[in-house]
Amino acid sequence: MIGILGGTFDPVHHGHLRIALELLQDLSLDEVRFIPCRNPPHRGEAVASPRQRLAMLERAIAGQRGFVIDDRELARPGLSYMVDTLESLRNSGGGTPLCMIVGRDAFDRLDTWHRWRHLIELAHIVVAERPDVPGQPSPAVAELLEGRRVDDPMALHGRDAGSVLTWPVTRLSISATLVREVIAAGRSPRYLVPDTVWSYIQKESLYR
Ligand code: ATP
Repeated sequence: MIGILGGTFDPVHHGHLRIALELLQDLSLDEVRFIPCRNPPHRGEAVASPRQRLAMLERAIAGQRGFVIDDRELARPGLSYMVDTLESLRNSGGGTPLCMIVGRDAFDRLDTWHRWRHLIELAHIVVAERPDVPGQPSPAVAELLEGRRVDDPMALHGRDAGSVLTWPVTRLSISATLVREVIAAGRSPRYLVPDTVWSYIQKESLYR
């Protein structure tokens, strides 16, 4: 079973890496795929180039068993829609169960995503939830949840798509925005990002 963690990763930080590791272990995933997007549909362009974001991801995950980078969105022109990515993974991976990992806030607004109803036909959805922040899904998303919710990660292994699991994770209060702001203010982002990523940011004079 493959976990899919899509994002801008501008830059990748310990918040991303920690939830990926917890889900890899807790859900008995074979791998977590980090999929950097080229043109994010919900926001402006990334500050770092695709090449730089990929280089930071490579440094961040080096040596971690089960962490894999997938650059298919960087190779695809136009906006990076998750539904296209899942379709392409499904076409190449056959019946391997896929788990699209999303934060609770993203899940609650899933109905703003391109062809959103199709996502659940292509993958399970794993909602990474902070135990202290209850969610409030939009009415359309709440309707999608009906009959699809599972509580046991093992239930995901039996089917290739179609279930929704909400799973508590340690959400560190780190965002890429915070990391960029810290650097722009001339302060050190050490311990927010891996040291190898910070070295690369300095070498490339990023986010100043
Ligand atoms: P930005 O601040 O630039 O918007 P970000 O830190 O939210 O970026 P993204 O690359 O956009 O990072 O996020 C990719 C995925 O990782 C999203 O699903 C997001 O919800 C999740 N994520 C980001 N930061 C954390 C965190 N601290 N803990 C858990 N999940 C996170």
